[in-house]
Amino acid sequence: MTNTDRVELSRRSLLGASAGVAALAAGAAPAAATPGRRTNDPQATPLTADQALRKLLAGNARFVAGEQRHPHESLDWRQSLVAGQHPFAVVLGCADSRVSPELVFDEGLGDLFVIRAAGEVLDTAVIGSIEYAVEHLSVPLVVVLGHESCGAVGATIDVVQHGTAVSGDISTLVRAIEPAVRATPPNPDAPEFLAACVAEQARRAAKYLQERSNIVSDAVAHHGVRVVSATYELRTGAVTRL
Ligand SMILES: [Zn+2]
Repeated sequence: MTNTDRVELSRRSLLGASAGVAALAAGAAPAAATPGRRTNDPQATPLTADQALRKLLAGNARFVAGEQRHPHESLDWRQSLVAGQHPFAVVLGCADSRVSPELVFDEGLGDLFVIRAAGEVLDTAVIGSIEYAVEHLSVPLVVVLGHESCGAVGATIDVVQHGTAVSGDISTLVRAIEPAVRATPPNPDAPEFLAACVAEQARRAAKYLQERSNIVSDAVAHHGVRVVSATYELRTGAVTRL
């Protein structure tokens, strides 16, 4: 492959990618806007941010009680999603294997736009992913979900309190979480301190997202989008709003 080929290939890839975004954004003819709802896509979820939050918490209540419906997993439903996706909430959660958003909220394929990074750390790729969901998929709700016994937050506490060394790009995570740990009032009870740091990190991520992203802050200010933070308890499975 020559350099010219490579340039042409990457240019085509880029054009293909942006054409895909444009096609998704264009979707269909604009519909009359529902008050308080951000969308020009008539296929977007009809839920408001509050309704989306209630739906999520209702799903979590089923999960806590062991009464899951496991919706939207059938063959027919899967086929229906080939034409497009219309998720009703973005969940930015930790990568921890015990906190899978679709399971925790008893939702299925196409329901949640999930982004996961250890400690819910926001970088440009994470923020861009959330912006895409808000702007192009008209998702009305963004949930930042921290969780009990978060290893990323725990590792950051070790660094702050004991100067523990971390290797590789784990240090990137630690640097991003460190302000939350330093802002949390000291507590000799280690599990309580960790829980407080987790909550602080989730709150800060929700706040920073809106400070950093004009797309998200504009959607919140003018289009009824909400950004909330919450934590997940491993023992009970319960999600609690912060
Ligand atoms: Zn975690």
